[in-house]
Amino acid sequence: MAHVETYRCAGCGAEYRVRGDPQPKVTCRDCGREADLCGPAAARREYRIGYTKYREARRQLSDAMSLVEGGATTLARGGFDDAAADFEASVSHFTTAVREADDESFSECAERARKKATCLWQAVEWLSGMTFASEQGERLRARQHRHDAENRLRAASEYGSVSGPNEAFPAAQTGPTA
Ligand SMILES: [Zn+2]
Repeated sequence: MAHVETYRCAGCGAEYRVRGDPQPKVTCRDCGREADLCGPAAARREYRIGYTKYREARRQLSDAMSLVEGGATTLARGGFDDAAADFEASVSHFTTAVREADDESFSECAERARKKATCLWQAVEWLSGMTFASEQGERLRARQHRHDAENRLRAASEYGSVSGPNEAFPAAQTGPTA
């Protein structure tokens, strides 16, 4: 069975329905610019990428926390900054997934993932600031940043756990399995 996927041109806004496996982009027939995959196939693809980035960021966050406990402040800051970049990327992919979703339960799942990743992104930014302040000998500022980070971590925990792709859209028929 051939899939028909929808693409939207970033230039002229035209939408195309193209038969075949989903591609990230095709060339617009009207203006020659790139048309992006959109709709549910794009939502699922973006969720998968966002989830991979999210898992990587979680791993970096937990490694960096261990480094902080061990007193390796500078190394920890590098880890928090890497985690911040991956959380930021995951938020961007989850945001696209929410926008392109056509299914309410999947959309809610992607929205929860987006909110949780946003809280964690803010938390690692504070944690990075904490390590910097602590290297500068600014103990009070370091404590304040840690307190702000803990607030964001608590807020993140209220969103529960981020569902893996197979849990987020179990009925999906298209796209590679993760
Ligand atoms: Zn176009």
